[in-house]
Amino acid sequence: MNCFYHPDTVSVAACVDCGKGLCQECASRYQFPICNECNEIRLKSEKQAIFKQYIPSAIFFIAGLIFGLKVINENVYSSIVLGYMIAGVFWGWKVISFIQPKMFLFLPIVGWVFYFFIKFILSMVVGIVAMPIGIVRIIIKHISAFFKGINIKKNRQKI
Ligand SMILES: [Zn+2]
Ligand SMILES: [Zn+2]
Repeated sequence: MNCFYHPDTVSVAACVDCGKGLCQECASRYQFPICNECNEIRLKSEKQAIFKQYIPSAIFFIAGLIFGLKVINENVYSSIVLGYMIAGVFWGWKVISFIQPKMFLFLPIVGWVFYFFIKFILSMVVGIVAMPIGIVRIIIKHISAFFKGINIKKNRQKI
């Protein structure tokens, strides 16, 4: 089999996704042998997955903001802080769920209510720090996906 992009060159590998032949040069473009088209498809779904990670924070933030402005009639700044705190609960909850011992599962009903209340408060506190860290991590993924896209485009032009 010869390289799909360079029909005069013998292929040394096949694209992991579609099986197209790839020559030495084409096979070493990315971390593993994959053709440009398949890598582009992978990047597209990667970008969608990254984008989805912003959504819960955005929804909770907006919910907190609206609650602050419309329901408890706070000013804009307090409402922004409230939105931040509520969105932070989402992140804090994830962190606490990750580290908490599993023994809570055997609590009676009253214990559950108490447990969720405590967990909510703790999540809010933890979220103040966990959220900015979490969001920065998503942004870093976003930036790296952006550069991957540039790299794919550059490789496409080379062919
Ligand atoms: Zn392919
Ligand atoms: Zn090639």
